[in-house]
Amino acid sequence: MPRFTDASPPDSCIFCRLIAGEIPSARVYEDALTVAFMDIGQVTPGHVLVATRRHAATLWDATPEEVAAVMQGARRVAQAARAAFDPAGVMLLQANGAVAGQTVAHFHMHVVPRHAGDGIDFTWPRQNPAPAVLADYAERLRAAL
Ligand code: 5GP
Ligand code: ZN
Repeated sequence: MPRFTDASPPDSCIFCRLIAGEIPSARVYEDALTVAFMDIGQVTPGHVLVATRRHAATLWDATPEEVAAVMQGARRVAQAARAAFDPAGVMLLQANGAVAGQTVAHFHMHVVPRHAGDGIDFTWPRQNPAPAVLADYAERLRAAL
């Protein structure tokens, strides 16, 4: 199965350079394992990225501790976004691999405040397979755990 490969070694990774302070960013939060900063694109006001401090390209490369820390950071930022921007909802988005929409090969979670009519849209092509197909998929995953 093809895997997303990290085309950005740490010295040329934009987020590594940002975390090192070599390029500017509007930081929100940081701890030993993560750094949270404003996404330059601001899909909605308050759009934050929570990234691993260490260079890890994807979910497959980050440690369990790093993934947990990113999720805890996302929760903390989401709580702050609720107070600061009064959104109707909040969306967490985390892409791995170009085919999944990842454009920066350094593990990060989007925290996106959501509002009615904010223009964000996804296509979500449901397949609704038969229960036997679901059972087969589950068996394949259990065997791989
Ligand atoms: P991805 O598509 O990989 O999930 O998200 C990458 C995000 O990084 C994009 O939303 C993009 O706006 C943001 N981004 C790319 N370059 C920079 C940068 O130099 N600074 C900041 N703050 N965000 C960036
Ligand atoms: Zn990096």
